[in-house]
Amino acid sequence: MKKIAVLTSGGDAPGMNAAIRAVVRKGIYHDLDVFGIYYGYQGLIEGKIEKMELGSVGDIIQKGGTILYTSRSEEFKTEQGQIKAIEQLKKYGIEGLVVIGGDGSFRGASKLTEKGFPCIGVPGTIDNDIPGTDFTIGFDTALNTVIQAVDKIRDTATSHERTYIIEVMGRNAGDLALWAGLAAGAESIIIPEKNEPVESVVDRIKRGHERGKRHSIILVAEGVGSGMEFGEKIKELTSFETRVTVLGHTQRGGSPTANDRVLASRLGAKAVDLLLEGKAGRMVGIQNNQLKDHDILEALNQSHIPELSMYQLSQELSI
Ligand code: ADP
Repeated sequence: MKKIAVLTSGGDAPGMNAAIRAVVRKGIYHDLDVFGIYYGYQGLIEGKIEKMELGSVGDIIQKGGTILYTSRSEEFKTEQGQIKAIEQLKKYGIEGLVVIGGDGSFRGASKLTEKGFPCIGVPGTIDNDIPGTDFTIGFDTALNTVIQAVDKIRDTATSHERTYIIEVMGRNAGDLALWAGLAAGAESIIIPEKNEPVESVVDRIKRGHERGKRHSIILVAEGVGSGMEFGEKIKELTSFETRVTVLGHTQRGGSPTANDRVLASRLGAKAVDLLLEGKAGRMVGIQNNQLKDHDILEALNQSHIPELSMYQLSQELSI
């Protein structure tokens, strides 16, 4: 293999740049030509491809977002779109592709592999919802963004004696709310994997109030539903003053944490190693601090489950 390419696709996540840098530098270290594909699969179909040099990825390890930009592409989901994508890759003599993205992007990568074009998936999403890896690139940074926001809300919550509901991203996974809830000492964490009835949340708020607690902080994962609606229900059932904050896209931005930069560097480099070993249709991941690779489709057929002992612990610590 002499020429490889890298793209970012789907939802962006902090640390994607560190992963791009690792793919480009590791490739060049192994005397490969490395191409960057702009705007994900849509850009690939449209031939938005440029050769990357060592300097192309200079000064990006600390930056959020993705210098290659990203997109969602309906055209790529069709067979015609996938054929066009492979034609573009062949035009440049590219023989292997690293796809940095979430589960949708991985499904795209496995489609290209099925059609004979070797792809490796690198998990980049703040949701931490990809089976086969303990952590995805971007999760740690988003988690830190959430707890900084919760810490600030806690200050104002204490001053005013209010109940705060904070809606956290994560798509269908509760990881971000779960970890943030434990890290920020939230009174309740509402996640799809443990759908606690609103009545029991209300009981906990009331018990805390009777004990003299001045505020309650409730983290709601977006996978459960809207924080606004949840807030309305709590208001109805408690008559306490409630406020709702939707953290939204602030969770996607910011300079990646050290953990995300290290993870991205290790996973990006491992993806290049796998292509050089002749592997295809694999995803890279980290499990018990060891780099691993798995068949993409086998991994996606597993279900991702967050560490639910942390849910129990959070309840024990916030009585
Ligand atoms: P993420 O990778 O963050 O999960 P999406 O689910 O939006 O984001 O997927 C990103 C892109 O990957 C889609 O816009 C589409 O082009 C491609 N993709 C997603 N699912 C498939 C699929 N089943 N087959 C082919 N391509 C897909």
